[in-house]
Amino acid sequence: MVKFRQAYWDEPLLTEMSMPGRVGYLPPRDKVIAMWSKGKRLLPKEVEREGELKLPELSELQVLRHFNRLSQMNFSVESGIYPLGSCTMKYNPKVSEYIAASPRMREAHPFQPDETLQGLLAIFYELSQMLAEITGMHAFSLTSAAGAQGEFAGVLMIRKYLREKGLAKDEILVPDSAHGTNPASAAMAGFKVVKVGSNASGLVSAQAVRAVLSERTAGMMLTVPNTLGLFESEVGEISDLVHGAGGLMYYDGANMNALLGKARPGDMGFDIAHLNLHKTFATPHGGGGPGAGPVGVTKRFAEYLPVPLVRKQGKRYLLDYDVKHTIGRLKGSFGNSAVLLRAYVYIRLLGPEGLYNVSSLSVLAANYLLKLLNNEGYGLAHGKDLKRKHEAIVSVKSRMPGGAMKVAKALLDSGVHSPTIYFPLIVDEALMIEPTESETMESLNEYASLLNQIYSSIEGGTLGDVPRNTSVGRIDEVKASHPLTLKVRW
Ligand SMILES: *Cc1c(COP(=O)(O)O)cnc(C)c1O
Repeated sequence: MVKFRQAYWDEPLLTEMSMPGRVGYLPPRDKVIAMWSKGKRLLPKEVEREGELKLPELSELQVLRHFNRLSQMNFSVESGIYPLGSCTMKYNPKVSEYIAASPRMREAHPFQPDETLQGLLAIFYELSQMLAEITGMHAFSLTSAAGAQGEFAGVLMIRKYLREKGLAKDEILVPDSAHGTNPASAAMAGFKVVKVGSNASGLVSAQAVRAVLSERTAGMMLTVPNTLGLFESEVGEISDLVHGAGGLMYYDGANMNALLGKARPGDMGFDIAHLNLHKTFATPHGGGGPGAGPVGVTKRFAEYLPVPLVRKQGKRYLLDYDVKHTIGRLKGSFGNSAVLLRAYVYIRLLGPEGLYNVSSLSVLAANYLLKLLNNEGYGLAHGKDLKRKHEAIVSVKSRMPGGAMKVAKALLDSGVHSPTIYFPLIVDEALMIEPTESETMESLNEYASLLNQIYSSIEGGTLGDVPRNTSVGRIDEVKASHPLTLKVRW
């Protein structure tokens, strides 16, 4: 049996996490390279194939038809408007795809020596610098594969920092409007999650934070603008309060599309921030990945970041694994490199002025669409007098049980994508609409009139048996997620 299997794969993740400096459950890169070069087996014997793989015999045309059919069942922003709130389903420029598909990218291997990866490392180094500039942070680690993993890295850094300072703080404050990954990340890192209620305007008030703050407060996770599309106007005061109690501020950057070039989490008092490159920086996502959730920090936390960090020494770039207080590794190799490359191309294409225009247009689009909606059918649940940022959350007031779900299915019937539904949790029958900057005025007009038309076609409290036109009808959503049989056999 290979030695590292014992050390890295047999231990439960949580044991690993409690071992300082060894969060990662993957062997260090230099170890893998050493094993490889000695021709050692990397996989445990029991997972090795015993015989020939039984592949089906099919003609090229059969295969082509199969994938063509699947692609036609798919829906993407290239098929139509896709205003899936919180997910920022913007157009992903083709030039990024073109560059990411170049052989120089495709054929690069994560275990190549750094000297042979100078071009890519230069790009990743510049990307981390640009992200730091955009967010007002000091340094970035690019490895986390999603926003959720960036959050997890962030709370682990908070935990490690506080432990090293000998502070017994074990509570993380999370607003009730937060994305579910926030409390999940905090809980996975061993914190107790303390819920902070939003006020009638849908905002977290400094007063509400003060009410739950204590010497146990390790930090607070905050999304700005929040999941109601509203700017947290008391964020400065909240940061001061949390810092005053010795806690740290974590910025959930999933909604950064609203702030690009206008406001920076670093200036709002946040210590740690993640960005969702697959959302804000136009890399393809949906169906679970791959994504990238780089995590950035102020100077105080620079030595806690997950490794490797891309550094520049003279004219050379290198991957640095030797970072003093690092929480360890979170991901094989140095992240989802093709996603990082696409995001880099997007930022370089647009430049500071272009990014500024992105946020202006995304905010304009959301407010314009909201204005066109029949408010009798689609009302704002919170802060009716506040301007929205990049997304608008309306409540379906149809007196129709399960209204949001039915409106969503009726939209699918019309050949467009539905908004996010039933999130955030503090809005009943929520439709969370994020059109992004990619849509034209005509397409926003069409979407709003479709929604209004659906509302006016409710008869006797029902929309009938929707959807009627989709290739897959009503799915059993409980069955899809519940009788899960998960077995780990190692
Ligand atoms: C998408 C999202 C996340 C999680 O990001 P993933 O990249 O999906 O892991 C966290 N918070 C908010 C507000 C989000 O919209």
